[in-house]
Amino acid sequence: MKPSDIFKCAKCGDCCKGYGGTYVTAKDIKAIAAYIKTDPESFVDNYCSRSGSRLVLAQGENGYCIFWDGLCTIHPVKPHMCKQWPFIESVLVDMNNWDIMANQCPGIRTDVPDSIVLECVKKELSK
Ligand code: SF4
Ligand code: SF4
Repeated sequence: MKPSDIFKCAKCGDCCKGYGGTYVTAKDIKAIAAYIKTDPESFVDNYCSRSGSRLVLAQGENGYCIFWDGLCTIHPVKPHMCKQWPFIESVLVDMNNWDIMANQCPGIRTDVPDSIVLECVKKELSK
């Protein structure tokens, strides 16, 4: 089985709302700023918030990510965190996290053996 066999985004937008924020790396900032035709400093000032010492994408008044508009409006350059979902390190640490994530994300399958999930997560993380 391939990663795309155990996760298919249903484009519901649930992961783009709340959940403590979408972290952006320096690389994300550069790419998104270029995509929306602004400079990194203005992007941080106008589209980011702080979560402790880290930067996250700002949220609109509706609680959704500022770039959510029925779909992700920066899809080609969306943050690493968004691209990686749901194939993330914490699943390798504790398989229960896969099921916890599936409770919030209808695109995640839970009817596959743990060994397959682990194999797919490792494969995606090694890219
Ligand atoms: S919650 Fe899951 S299915 Fe819904 S948009 Fe996010 S990744 Fe896609
Ligand atoms: S950048 Fe796109 S995929 Fe990521 S939280 Fe915002 S709208 Fe969702």
